[in-house]
Amino acid sequence: MANVSLVNVEKTYSNGFRAVKRFNLEIRDGEFIIFVGPSGCGKSTTMRMIAGLEEISSGELWIDGQLANFLEPGQRGLSMVFQNYALYPYMSVYENMAFGLRVHGEKRTEIDRKVRETAKLLQIDHLLERRPSALSGGQKQRVAIGSVLVREPKLLLMDEPLSNLDAKLRGQMRVELAKIHKQFSSTIVYVTHDQVEAMTLADRIVVMKEGEIQQIASPNEIYNNPINQFVAGFIGSPSMNFLPVRCGVENGIFFLQAGESRLVLPPILAKRIKDQGGLGKELILGIRPEDLYRKDEEQERAGQSGILQMDGKKSGGELLMKVMVREGLGAEVLLHGEIEGENACVKLAPSCVTSPGETIALCPDMKKIKLFDAQTGDNLLYLNMTGSNG
Ligand code: ATP
Repeated sequence: MANVSLVNVEKTYSNGFRAVKRFNLEIRDGEFIIFVGPSGCGKSTTMRMIAGLEEISSGELWIDGQLANFLEPGQRGLSMVFQNYALYPYMSVYENMAFGLRVHGEKRTEIDRKVRETAKLLQIDHLLERRPSALSGGQKQRVAIGSVLVREPKLLLMDEPLSNLDAKLRGQMRVELAKIHKQFSSTIVYVTHDQVEAMTLADRIVVMKEGEIQQIASPNEIYNNPINQFVAGFIGSPSMNFLPVRCGVENGIFFLQAGESRLVLPPILAKRIKDQGGLGKELILGIRPEDLYRKDEEQERAGQSGILQMDGKKSGGELLMKVMVREGLGAEVLLHGEIEGENACVKLAPSCVTSPGETIALCPDMKKIKLFDAQTGDNLLYLNMTGSNG
């Protein structure tokens, strides 16, 4: 286990390109940290700087209280698992797993114990005599992870370790990784494009864009309390719906106007938007597909949950969606179409009978809506729960 701290870390490549900017992150002992962000945002560069495979242009990297900027990769007490798991094809699984320990001069009995124990944990103990060519993709990946874990690294770096696997195997390996993390309590830094991996595995997610950290928080917080429109749009599948709106007030009632549609704001939100200077401004309304309900469902829901009231008037309202595509996914139905001319998606129960061509009235859950400044993208309803980002 290891503590890792990055202080104002920057990377400028020799061609002058600044790939990572002012990167500050404190990784706690035993934590599972995941870097996510679009292609080219600097995830791998940051990981490679931690590993010692890429020089740090400025800033400090601390590993277990030791300044690590100039330590050789081998002196950092870490191991790395890459996308293309490197196994020696002419060695058995046992030999592949034992190799790193042999190089470090461990005793044969110790090597044997560690290899067998790790193989058992990863459920590859029945494969120890096989060559890599006789293994499935998932088994190969487990051997690659085993070869690293057997060395008991205090810090494990993983760069898209599951990206070569098919969807089913990815799902299985995700569960395996979660178990491995629990059993080995290693500190893990992990890079992925896959937000499901990030949401299910991470203790904290680091969302990056163009070399800069956007938000560092738990998966739950990133999902429910995104700091800006970029994070809100990047995390969640299908993505959050965005709709340009203007916040207005009439007879003391605050509302959001989206084209022809009007949504009455509950008093708590109205106050926060006013305090944030959002009144009269161009804003972007954000609503996740699962936070929109059919009007008839909403009436039932409101009856049960005691929806927010204002001057005896119900908050909320309806948005009309022109349905274009229906995707039946078994457990749920996704309807894709347009709301006020913007692409939109809603997730409904499988009992929904709506077909393409229909127009349906949808009610947003006003407690879950987000509002972003149309210019800066900042979330006007962001709650700073930790006092700092992360
Ligand atoms: P991906 O998800 O596609 O792997 P990433 O977020 O891991 O992307 P990096 O590989 O860290 O991104 O690259 C960050 C940026 O730095 C990219 O714009 C990339 O083109 C640039 N870059 C990477 N290596 C070099 C290099 N050696 N010289 C110049 N620019 C580089």
